[in-house]
Amino acid sequence: MKNIVTVLGKISGEQLGFCQCHEHLLISKGKSYQVNPVLFMDEVDKSTEEVTSYRAAGGCSLVDAQPVGCGRMAEGLVSISKETGVHIIASTGFHKLSFYPEKHWIFGKSREQMREIFRQELLEGMYVDADQKEPEQRIPNRAGQIKTALDTEGLTERYRTLFLAAADAAKETGAPVMIHVENGTDPRELLGLLLKEGVRAEQMIFCHMDRACKELSWHEEVASTGAYLEYDTIGRFKYHSDEREIEIIRHMCSQGYEDRLLFSLDTTRARLASYGGSLGLVYLIDSFLPKMAAAGIPEEKAEQMIRRNSAKAFAWK
Ligand SMILES: [Zn+2]
Repeated sequence: MKNIVTVLGKISGEQLGFCQCHEHLLISKGKSYQVNPVLFMDEVDKSTEEVTSYRAAGGCSLVDAQPVGCGRMAEGLVSISKETGVHIIASTGFHKLSFYPEKHWIFGKSREQMREIFRQELLEGMYVDADQKEPEQRIPNRAGQIKTALDTEGLTERYRTLFLAAADAAKETGAPVMIHVENGTDPRELLGLLLKEGVRAEQMIFCHMDRACKELSWHEEVASTGAYLEYDTIGRFKYHSDEREIEIIRHMCSQGYEDRLLFSLDTTRARLASYGGSLGLVYLIDSFLPKMAAAGIPEEKAEQMIRRNSAKAFAWK
């Protein structure tokens, strides 16, 4: 039987409930902060407060998309989940390489070594000391997905090695692979590569497609393989309005891809209410679902879609 692996252990799809599939609850201060100061939230109390409000609004589960060695705060995620009762799926994997300091171990490891780190994190427990140095120390709490990132430079040799390692770990464990898609990139070559490597389309979750990929026929192409599209440009008005977001969702539903869509906010410091940000994790439930309803997609239907799709996308053997 397939289960979802959270930081506090395995749960069923039904237990997952309402789940925002790509958030950032904690990020320690590192290279990503230098690249973009909003990529830094390291106060467990504040993040716990945010997740408490999410729970009160009706949220059950969250995916934290920060991978190993890139500011992920695994012990903090465990503490937040214990404190709030919200299920948290943590990530192993790799991020955009611009988020790592120059001499980071991510640049030097072989496909096999990276596969082994991903496998250990998924099956045995997460590393907690890997931001500055080689991963050594682990806690028993496991990662529940492999986060990866496709940047604008495309499949360079290093990215190819990392994606192949992620594919190996995904095949071996059955775990889902989440793929960050950068603005203006075409995810279809990567999709083809992962399929060729034997990763099932249903294991793949392409993120940020709603802001990164204007061409909706590409969304349809990706969804038609069975892969998931994760939309998180909700309440991100520098990219587009919620009305435009709803148009994209409606379009995909009209093409029959309602069961391929996942939703989230991809919040960081600038938008987390407990850090003084503009929106709060509750925005999707409190503001966006009512807007969808007003646009003719009934709230219950949207909520069902969110529960059902995330329960399938994050379950593995
Ligand atoms: Zn993100």
